[in-house]
Amino acid sequence: MVGIDQVVEKLGTVIDPDLKKDIVSMGMIKDIELDSGKLQFTLELTTPACPFNEDIENDVRKAISELDGITKFDLKVTAKVMEGRSLEDDSTMSTVKNIIGVASGKGGVGKSTVSLNIALALSRTGAKVGLLDADIYGPSIPLMLGIKEAYMQVDEEKHKLQPTKSNGIEVVSFGFFGEQDHQAAIYRGPIISGILRQFLVDTDWSDLDYLIVDLPPGTGDIPLTLAQTIPLTGILVVTTPQAVASSVAVKALGMFSKLNVPILGIIENMSLFECTKCGEPHRIFGTGGAERISKEFDIPVLGDIPLNFGIMDGSDTGKPIMLANPNSPSSLAFEVAAKNIAAQCSIVAARLADEQASEKTGDSQAVAQTQQVGQAPGGPQTSGTDR
Ligand code: ADP
Repeated sequence: MVGIDQVVEKLGTVIDPDLKKDIVSMGMIKDIELDSGKLQFTLELTTPACPFNEDIENDVRKAISELDGITKFDLKVTAKVMEGRSLEDDSTMSTVKNIIGVASGKGGVGKSTVSLNIALALSRTGAKVGLLDADIYGPSIPLMLGIKEAYMQVDEEKHKLQPTKSNGIEVVSFGFFGEQDHQAAIYRGPIISGILRQFLVDTDWSDLDYLIVDLPPGTGDIPLTLAQTIPLTGILVVTTPQAVASSVAVKALGMFSKLNVPILGIIENMSLFECTKCGEPHRIFGTGGAERISKEFDIPVLGDIPLNFGIMDGSDTGKPIMLANPNSPSSLAFEVAAKNIAAQCSIVAARLADEQASEKTGDSQAVAQTQQVGQAPGGPQTSGTDR
């Protein structure tokens, strides 16, 4: 009769393709029960948006089918997003598991369009998502979501700003300045940094799996403040294929790398245009922009978004393509990109968990060594002395 140890051992052969680790040591098997050949457990994936979720489930089913003596098998599949940012020394924004900054070298490459549609695509997988439109020079998210009248409300009891809810995601935008929105663009330096800090830490974000922060283009005060205010999961860079865009994207990348913020990868927007008349793909903006950056910085290309009238029209009419036409090829391209981004967040989270575990092991080894030589600083249990 098969025992639970054999089941666990067998499940230990299933590897998460992103994390390159087995699902048992990653703690993905929960509530396992085996009773006279009847097996049940929960497979808890690291994100509902993982591109390999189906593969992992299939591998689990295959592994169990290879065991003798299992007469019944009930598998429940859930997902719990991992914390991709270090909250150990920082309790600010502790309800937000992952914060992703979306940057670009120059304006007009579609950074806001990508931020919004990625946020909606992640939300569609079941993840809880927020979107902070920090593009001070052109806060376009309210327009793109068709939010006509929104302003920042303050919860008097909590002393917190309340995000606006739109299509299942929580939204805060520099565009919610209301009457003063034209003034926002003339604020500079410390004032801007202060406002961003408030939007981040003084907003009543609920328990979010992912907060997407749409940054202004370039390397100014806002990206710098973001990187220095709170631990981030990483930065996503949006570029178009032409050299002019990709060469300036490199500057933004360089800044975040210097600040030790992980770079999750690149999205190439307006990659190609598929002509509705001739059906041929045209590379209007050339080729290879994202590929060049990918090679130079050794980071992955996480998505190619086509140049498409529906994407532009969706933004202009306040009905993003992910909502207006979720099964269109453009929406599928956003979905693929969103899943790849979620996978990168899980990789960062797993690395972080490893580092924290080895720090703890290192700490306890250090304590053990210290105790051996009887020098525990300030510790009441110092041995070897009779008082
Ligand atoms: P950024 O945030 O980089 O300044 P936006 O997201 O505001 O850029 O996009 C600039 C313009 O390009 C908008 O009108 C938007 O609708 C359009 N746009 C962005 N991406 C695409 C795309 N893939 N296909 C068609 N139009 C796009």
